[in-house]
Amino acid sequence: ATPMAIMVGTGLGARHGVLIKNAAALEDAVKLDVIVFDKTGTLTLGAPKVVQVTPAAGVDETDLLITAAALERGSEHHIAKAVLERAKELPEVAATGFESFGGKGLRATVDRRTVLSGNRMLMADNGVELGELAAESERLQGAGRTVVHIARDGRVIGLIAVADAVRPTAGATIRRLQGLGVKVAMITGDNLGTARRIADELGIDIVLAEVLPGDKALKIKELQGEGHRVGMVGDGVNDAPALTQADVGFAIGAGTDVAIESADVVLMRSDPADVVKAIELSRATLRKMH
Ligand code: ADP
Ligand code: MG
Repeated sequence: ATPMAIMVGTGLGARHGVLIKNAAALEDAVKLDVIVFDKTGTLTLGAPKVVQVTPAAGVDETDLLITAAALERGSEHHIAKAVLERAKELPEVAATGFESFGGKGLRATVDRRTVLSGNRMLMADNGVELGELAAESERLQGAGRTVVHIARDGRVIGLIAVADAVRPTAGATIRRLQGLGVKVAMITGDNLGTARRIADELGIDIVLAEVLPGDKALKIKELQGEGHRVGMVGDGVNDAPALTQADVGFAIGAGTDVAIESADVVLMRSDPADVVKAIELSRATLRKMH
């Protein structure tokens, strides 16, 4: 496009909440045939709430919550905020020796006992079997919940299920992109059961679940290797490399600084629907140069 058309397009975008940091993105957006959305904080609001607390047999619910909170105090994850909110009225117990496992959860010592908080992968990595709670964990995930498993001394002491509401415009955005001939994918570190349920609800074409933080960019590269022009929409620190790898990276305005720095386009209103606006703007800009 001519510098003039780009300038006009960029200005128009800014007025509509679409901040184009990289002028080339304005020309590339129209060529995208796959758009990958991060799940948590992008398609969902990223403000999960605890919806169920299930202690194992013989475990007191308060004990479970106090232990979980002791661990989650060592995490910045949005799941941690949900657990801490649920436990805020309970006494605080100190944990030491925090270890964080990206995309899986945490480990620490509480009362000289080893405690874990995280997903099934974290439990499996530490040789913890879900036992009597396996079926309930499976059921909750199938219902779209993210399940936090709490273990102490190698035994699961309970489950905490959190739910994160889908952004109100997510479904319509996906249908509009599909209407433009774009395939829509969802990428997440969350488990496949939870991811599938949310993807089905939104009519998403491709589900990439249980992707470790370091592997998101790799998944984008794989799609590009299959000949696709790939857009990526994300908000988190762990989305940054994928935003850079994508042909066009879109950051949620309310997202982390790293995501915003790595993106070509910033969705200032944090509304996924503005991805469609960016593509329309791209079309209009290119039309003007012919
Ligand atoms: P996403 O890509 O969806 O933002 P992450 O890669 O941050 O997900 O995390 C993937 C999964 O790891 C979460 O869905 C959760 O099951 C588990 N997890 C990560 N951090 C924590 C934590 N602080 N407490 C419990 N579970 C966690
Ligand atoms: Mg996210």
